[in-house]
Amino acid sequence: MSKLIITAAVVGGELTRKETPHLPITPQEIADEVYLAWKAGAAIAHVHARQADGSPTQDRAIYAEIIREIKERCDIIIQVSSGGSTWMSAEERLDPVTLSPEMASLTAGTVNFGRDVFMNSPEMLDAFAEKMMAFGVAPEFEIFEVGMIENARSLVKKGKITGHLHFDFVMGVPGAIPATAKNLLHMIDLLPSDSTWTVAGIGRHELPMAALAIPLGGHVRVGFEDNIYYRKGQLAKSNAELVERVVRLARELEREIASPSEARQLLDLPRNRS
Ligand code: ZN
Repeated sequence: MSKLIITAAVVGGELTRKETPHLPITPQEIADEVYLAWKAGAAIAHVHARQADGSPTQDRAIYAEIIREIKERCDIIIQVSSGGSTWMSAEERLDPVTLSPEMASLTAGTVNFGRDVFMNSPEMLDAFAEKMMAFGVAPEFEIFEVGMIENARSLVKKGKITGHLHFDFVMGVPGAIPATAKNLLHMIDLLPSDSTWTVAGIGRHELPMAALAIPLGGHVRVGFEDNIYYRKGQLAKSNAELVERVVRLARELEREIASPSEARQLLDLPRNRS
């Protein structure tokens, strides 16, 4: 079994300091949080950007600053969000992709998201795929529902996405696929044979989904974007705390943790080829 890639989703596009005072907001705070997660064992940082007042933004300049600050601190793989927040336009959402980060998320279809609709029409999927390929960015398909796997596969079939395929099962969002073992196994069955996958369990589902993914050969995403609690009623003080727990679980299950450079090999990231 390959080494385990841990992704830290440290900010998200919806969360506020009202929910957790530990949410990083400025590029420096975000980079500090990413650095601690990297020290704890994360190989990928999934990042969103915030304005100084904490409101979510896809502003290219702020992302550029976050990326610069992270690169000063560590060699973690930076994955920008192209999801942004549910109310943002497609054009706005794609702005950070034009910085040519190593990876970006690519949500593979439309889904209810709590009380909102997270719009990702077929035209948008084509446009997002084209933009990522044009800027040399490896997509991570965000899968909120079973049918999205087929949407992703059809982008590949049409030649809109080339290279290694990596999927993130986002499980337990109200309105999307429930976080159950059966659902996870079913989605794994539907993947192209040489692809890799990770799982992001939302809220209280984060820990059990991580615990399932480790012996199944998948990878794990944790962080404030998905879950702010260490345990019921107790906020996690940092993203690193959530990463450390996954590292401990993996050690018990005798699965080694991938460094960023090992993760680059496993995901065959474009820059790894040159
Ligand atoms: Zn995100």
